[in-house]
Amino acid sequence: MPARHARALILGSGPAGYTAAIYAARAMLKPLLIQGIQPGGQLTITTDVENYPGFAKVIQGPWLMEEMKAQAEHVGTEVVSDTITEVRLKDRPIWLKGDSGTEYTCDALIICTGAQAKWLNLPSEEKFKGFGVSACATCDGFFYRNKKVLVIGGGNTAVEEALFLTNFANEVVVVHRRNEFKAERILQDRLFKHPKIKVQWDTVLEDVLGTDDPRGVTGARLKNVKTGAVEDVAADGIFVAIGHKPATELFEGQLPFKPGGYLITEPRSTATAIEGVYAAGDVTDDVYRQAVTAAGMGCMAALEAERWLHVRGEVRHAAE
Ligand code: NAP
Repeated sequence: MPARHARALILGSGPAGYTAAIYAARAMLKPLLIQGIQPGGQLTITTDVENYPGFAKVIQGPWLMEEMKAQAEHVGTEVVSDTITEVRLKDRPIWLKGDSGTEYTCDALIICTGAQAKWLNLPSEEKFKGFGVSACATCDGFFYRNKKVLVIGGGNTAVEEALFLTNFANEVVVVHRRNEFKAERILQDRLFKHPKIKVQWDTVLEDVLGTDDPRGVTGARLKNVKTGAVEDVAADGIFVAIGHKPATELFEGQLPFKPGGYLITEPRSTATAIEGVYAAGDVTDDVYRQAVTAAGMGCMAALEAERWLHVRGEVRHAAE
């Protein structure tokens, strides 16, 4: 069984992971970064990024992540294409096992596994996933040229997905359970002005309607939460954009979680309940959840890990 050891090991390849890697590499920790199931993280499934500082022109999410990766490698990070499936955080050294069969050990671990799209958990949603139901407009929008689509949700993701879908679809209806959006004002203004977009307030998706052969979406059963009225509407595609959940299943029973499954860190720190284990980015952040805040937390985690390794090294040295 192949085995690798690193002083600092980073799990995840979003803005938090790559920033942690840049700082850890520059601290001469020779970090290993395990990319995980979605190399580059959530920014690889977005298009325009307008709020990452340093770029006056609109940049593309996948491009930004390629640049972060290149920078991390340039300063000495080894990026490994593997997904961790098992961890023993209390072992010393910390022990992890990858999908590839490789076992990893490390002295300090920085968890940056991010978050993934949430689903409504309707049986009909499950049935039509990949057949007209999607959680990624940038991945699947192209299939809806001149068609009608629904977007479920009222946050930044829903509004951005709706705007993006206007590049293809001829009608986009945003279905939101309340009568106001959570999304940033600038995005809301763009959405309200867009001639292809309509909003259906106070409404939830009750069921996805479709055919079995060929499998495909034909519409949706919507319910007005104020009046209770139910209606069936025609649609070719349904995009679910109701938020994200942190990727923390791997740490269940080993680290404490906040409500919603986010990892708990100490106040004003990225330290978790286990010494030498740090968490940064969307996996722990239930408040800000921005690329730039994730990057900032990645930096904090690497600085804290470096300090901890240094102090631990000195204590060991003194004891020997
Ligand atoms: P979010 O801000 O948590 O919004 C989720 C939306 O889905 C809310 O409007 C919520 O309704 C609705 N919702 C949740 N569960 C639902 C359910 N079961 N049925 C129907 N509707 C449901 O999630 P997000 O839009 O994915 O954004 C996540 C984070 O990423 C945010 O911090 C956001 O600012 C950030 N983000 C930023 C950008 C950007 O800066 N350009 C882009 C994308 C995401 P309620 O409003 O009633 O709660």
